[in-house]
Amino acid sequence: ISRTKIVDLLKRTDFGATVNVKGWVRTRRGSKQVNFIALNDGSTINNVQIVVDLANFDEEMLKLITTGACLSVNGNLAESVGSGQAVEVLATGIEVLGACDNTYPLQKKGHSLEFLREVAHLRPRTNTFGAVFRIRHHMAIAIHQFFHDRGFFYFHTPIITASDCEGAGQMFQVTTMNLYDLKKDENGSIDYDNDFFGKQASLTVSGQLEGELAAMSLGSIYTFGPTFRAENSNTPRHLAEFWMIEPEVAFNEIEDNMQLAEDFIKYCIQWALDNCMDDIKFLNDMFDKELIERLKFVLSNGFVRLPYTEGVKILEEAVANGRKFEFPVYWGADLASEHERYLVEEHFKSPVILTDYPKEIKSFYMKQNEDGKTVRAMDVLFPKIGEIIGGSQREEDYEKLTRRAKEMGVPEKDIWWYLDTRRFGTAPHAGFGLGFERLLLFVTGMSNIRDVIPFPRTPRNADF
Ligand code: ATP
Ligand code: MG
Ligand code: MG
Ligand code: MG
Repeated sequence: ISRTKIVDLLKRTDFGATVNVKGWVRTRRGSKQVNFIALNDGSTINNVQIVVDLANFDEEMLKLITTGACLSVNGNLAESVGSGQAVEVLATGIEVLGACDNTYPLQKKGHSLEFLREVAHLRPRTNTFGAVFRIRHHMAIAIHQFFHDRGFFYFHTPIITASDCEGAGQMFQVTTMNLYDLKKDENGSIDYDNDFFGKQASLTVSGQLEGELAAMSLGSIYTFGPTFRAENSNTPRHLAEFWMIEPEVAFNEIEDNMQLAEDFIKYCIQWALDNCMDDIKFLNDMFDKELIERLKFVLSNGFVRLPYTEGVKILEEAVANGRKFEFPVYWGADLASEHERYLVEEHFKSPVILTDYPKEIKSFYMKQNEDGKTVRAMDVLFPKIGEIIGGSQREEDYEKLTRRAKEMGVPEKDIWWYLDTRRFGTAPHAGFGLGFERLLLFVTGMSNIRDVIPFPRTPRNADF
């Protein structure tokens, strides 16, 4: 008999049928006569109960059925009264595929998230991380579906690049070295070339510039891939390696861009509610009792749209009325997440799209407004998170763009290829970047970004 995934098994009603399930033991309990094993195979948060009549099985084999062990179970499907599920399996044959001794770190019923980060190689076996990573998968599918349905093309931008489009300067440099030499040299004083075959290159901080090239030929595109930022900070919202979704659309202006961002986020949230409810319910009950309510709330309300200048006024008024912030607010300052969250959570009680930021705090490529002071930027601000999206209408005018690049110290020789789009049939266009893990923070209700990516890369954390 072929294996049935537990997610499918739990929906069956053909009681008496012979079935096979495989999975890992979560718990084992019972009496001297009958044992109940909760088995999970990762296909769903739900376990299937295996009922074992001990008299029918070999004692040595039974000893190996411990928490964490991997089993293949043959048995008969039966209606269940006590397992919390509609069905259970009455075991007729059990094979221990992989025994598991008591050094297995996931013995207890509950572990702290901090502890589970130390065992990132095993934590997907817990309910929490099983749920998070299943939702992560579904969100990735939702993203492709959303853009595909709207005629966007998935475009792959390079990971190794010489362009630092954010002007952030915080990039990981690519080096060439022989790992064999590294192992030989115990002092660690190894020779390596600090470049990519004779040229400086880094890991990409954003696929945007290349994405713009694609939009200027394919029309509507999106990227979805890993991005890297060498920010040596320790916040619950920043990773050194994270995934970004970046649509870029020819002929779109800032209003279209805002609508696209709002539609996109709502689509993803609706998808999660439609496809991941078991997992979301679990996370709601476990960590964040308002999660489902918050997700539904975002779906049912339009995002507030507001110029940065107005946002700063609101924050200044709050300060005048005694609201304390860690960082100062004034026109020209980049907003900290505490400011963003104040606008969203306390003032508007709604997601906010803040637009028209001062040009000094935004990148060179953003379209300049008539006022000479602001650019057509948009940040989408979310409850619990702050900035979830950063985007803009791009400057399509060659003269204005090159002038701004010079002012901001971006050498023309590094971006001549990018400037070419403005020389050869330029067009209005706009796009944005959404941090995949920030979206996941919102959808899962988790509060630390390290807990929504399988292997978080943060300062001093790259072992596995
Ligand atoms: P922040 O102000 O939070 O540092 P940013 O303005 O530096 O973000 P952008 O350059 O605008 O970020 O990147 C676009 C999006 O990518 C952000 O809105 C955010 O969702 C995500 N993002 C940026 N940096 C990180 C990071 N280090 N880890 C995870 N996601 C990130
Ligand atoms: Mg940043
Ligand atoms: Mg920002
Ligand atoms: Mg930003």
